[in-house]
Amino acid sequence: MFYNEEFETLPRPALEALQFKRLKSTIERVSANVPFYKESFCRAGIKPDDVKGLDDLQLLPFTTKQDMRDSYPYGLFATSLEEIVRIHASSGTTGKPTVVGYTLKDIETWTDLMARSFVAAGAHKGDIIHNAYGYGLFTGGLGAHYGAERLGASVIPMSGGNTKKQIMIMQDFGSTVLTCTPSYSLFMAEAAREEGIDFRDLKLRVGIFGAEPWSEAMRLDIEAKLNLSAVDIYGLSEIMGPGVAIECHEAKKGLHIWEDHFIPEIINPETGELLGEGEEGELVITTITKEGIPLIRYRTRDITSISYEPCVCGRTHARINRMSGRSDDMLIIRGVNVFPSQIEALLMGVEGVEPHYLLIVDRKDNLDTLEVQVEVGEKLFSDEVKHLQALSARIEKQIKEMLGVTCKVRLVEPKSITRSEGKAKRVIDNRPKA
Ligand SMILES: [Zn+2]
Repeated sequence: MFYNEEFETLPRPALEALQFKRLKSTIERVSANVPFYKESFCRAGIKPDDVKGLDDLQLLPFTTKQDMRDSYPYGLFATSLEEIVRIHASSGTTGKPTVVGYTLKDIETWTDLMARSFVAAGAHKGDIIHNAYGYGLFTGGLGAHYGAERLGASVIPMSGGNTKKQIMIMQDFGSTVLTCTPSYSLFMAEAAREEGIDFRDLKLRVGIFGAEPWSEAMRLDIEAKLNLSAVDIYGLSEIMGPGVAIECHEAKKGLHIWEDHFIPEIINPETGELLGEGEEGELVITTITKEGIPLIRYRTRDITSISYEPCVCGRTHARINRMSGRSDDMLIIRGVNVFPSQIEALLMGVEGVEPHYLLIVDRKDNLDTLEVQVEVGEKLFSDEVKHLQALSARIEKQIKEMLGVTCKVRLVEPKSITRSEGKAKRVIDNRPKA
């Protein structure tokens, strides 16, 4: 099933021809209308006419999150504010948010791509889509909402929070599709169980989870506990919002990035050098249809790799691997690169351990220390102390073997780690800032 078969299955030569045409027009637009690009192209000694093929994209300078902050709030907009019909912003952990603006056509494109993503995930007209992404400045809620309506599904605009009510509505309204963060889906299933409700008895068939990196092991856990087919969705407000890429339910092996609107590249995050197919690095995206705030070679800080192999679903768009993390989530512990998602994947494979964990990084006597707090199930927690000790020793050994870091594993009581109704907080870094 496709939403837009013609564009989703374009043969690569036609897709690339379309990309080039759209890229050219984007470059011309930004160099004429956005002073930031006019200056950055000039500094790099590039004129729009120097871009004669898709490979020449590499000649252009990157755009970073910092560039967006420096042009707060509207400096990177390529149209006048009169053309902008919607403004979103992503919460910055420090200081001001990053602001993005959409023209009417941008909203149209986004809505279409979200509808396309819903179909790829296995949703269809007639579905009841329970949208638990936050509504507001965050793009998740409204992005999914518009796409669901475009699809012809019935959308329930729940937003995040109020978990008891979420569960009641899902039960009573017969929700068939759930959209939220993966960690919140597990939290809801757990909260339901306490009320004597088994999520497996609900009508949910498809779960579309994103906004935070999650592991394959967590997918299996969610699918078992919620009795649905779970796919990963990717997006970021700077580029559009949710629906930049999604896994197809047929393969669930990498996320199709909608290449008729976005050109992906993978670079070495340290050197900026372009990497080949299958090599892991930072995802860089150029938008080629956006009007409000087109971005050239935007550094997403997300770490992944790309594959151009044909997919069983018939879509011709490249697939990015599920994110192994954000380059800013990456922890460097005694010189070793560690992503929280790698530890998560490992913990998910341990019987009796719950998918709730917290990494606490500190520095003692000039040495980095890592404590992994992980919840164990009721049954295991009431077990003999020596069994618990043996379990934590086993996990410590596995982490050492797989990731090369020494850590202390602390098994904690069921439900002692704070649950999140949005993005889960997995790391507390107490080390002094450099
Ligand atoms: Zn596919």
